[in-house]
Amino acid sequence: MQPLSNALSSARALLVALVWLAVGLPGVASVALAQDASPATAPAKATATAKAELQARRSWSFEEEGGAVRIDNEFSGARVNACERLGALDYKIVTSPENTPINPSPWYAFRVTSAVERDITVRIVVVASKARPRPRISIDGGPFERVASKDYEGGEGAKECVLRMRVGPKPTLVASNHMIGIAEIEAWTDATTATLGVHPREIGRSAADRAIRAFEFGAPDAREAIIVIGRQHPPEVAGTVGLFRFIEALAADTETARGFRARFRVLCVPLVNPDGVHEGQWRSTLGAIDANRDWGPFTQAETRVVRDAILAFVREPARTPRLLLDFHATSKDILYVPPDDAPLEPPHFASRWIAAISARFPDYAVEQNAENNLKEWTFKRWAFETFRAPGITYELGSAAPHDRIARIVPGAAEEAMKILLAEPAPGAAGAAARESPATATP
Ligand SMILES: [Zn+2]
Repeated sequence: MQPLSNALSSARALLVALVWLAVGLPGVASVALAQDASPATAPAKATATAKAELQARRSWSFEEEGGAVRIDNEFSGARVNACERLGALDYKIVTSPENTPINPSPWYAFRVTSAVERDITVRIVVVASKARPRPRISIDGGPFERVASKDYEGGEGAKECVLRMRVGPKPTLVASNHMIGIAEIEAWTDATTATLGVHPREIGRSAADRAIRAFEFGAPDAREAIIVIGRQHPPEVAGTVGLFRFIEALAADTETARGFRARFRVLCVPLVNPDGVHEGQWRSTLGAIDANRDWGPFTQAETRVVRDAILAFVREPARTPRLLLDFHATSKDILYVPPDDAPLEPPHFASRWIAAISARFPDYAVEQNAENNLKEWTFKRWAFETFRAPGITYELGSAAPHDRIARIVPGAAEEAMKILLAEPAPGAAGAAARESPATATP
């Protein structure tokens, strides 16, 4: 899609102006609003203290001729709310959301073992939503491969899907997508920070007392910063892969990345919602709240922890955020951006970035949408209202092949670095006029 910067119709400009009036102009007033959670915007206490409905962790053992078939959800990231035997080698598993209404992004993950090798049928029932495309299977710790279409009936739109699979004594994991959970994100964090020679640190604890970790790299005394967070929504694995490739590009031994790290400091929080990921939740925190609608009320431990870490990061030493990115996954690659005419620094960053990505990858279509969720308490909105810097939701297609993410996202990261490096540095000649008033950090 073409960037919108030159295509603003007067009708759209009016709409944007109305939206800005509705959400309030960015600046000091909205900073106070975002942090203080005025009574007008804070949700009712009952909502704030609600709990997501947890699945029972257990194993179901079904006697069959030749030996038992066992199905369980006793591992991190699993989700099975019910399981039963319908007939010989024919089972049903049910996944239901932690709270409703909820986004139609159901998650399930379970493990099957069988005393002997044989074919079984598993019916996957998705409560209160529709099923997603074909699941993935990992045998005995191997890679998650998508189930062949001949072995699967149902798919998008179906409430019940029928999966035929071969099982045996080695554990077989079935999940609605790749499983990249707490352990994998921690392993990646440890490897990446080791390469950089920095240490991840715990910035706080989730509602269920799991560590929320962050790390920093780049020039320690840099006055400019970018902030990257991910996995507010548990099933959005492709967003995590995008975050990995983005950060690796910033950390790479390339001329652009070295120059970038000499001038900018990076803060990364790769896993905002560890409880949701552990429980295989469809969307929410353990408090049954969509974390990416909580950047204003701040009812959840997770959003408060990450907010406070970001505010501390920009305060000491005083740093100006130039870009705040939040990685997610949805049906396609799309960036949710601030209105192009919003008074942010750097100006028109999103349009310039998308134009650069499109020019670099002519065969790749990435969309942008500046109207999405402007009235919701998203991280993106909190970011651009608090810092007058581009806050962007970077969505990767849920089913995007990981090798495509590995091709596109590092290129996108490099284009972002180039744009930011071309901006006048604080204190440089001509920079004063461009300095954001929000430099005086909240
Ligand atoms: Zn999301």
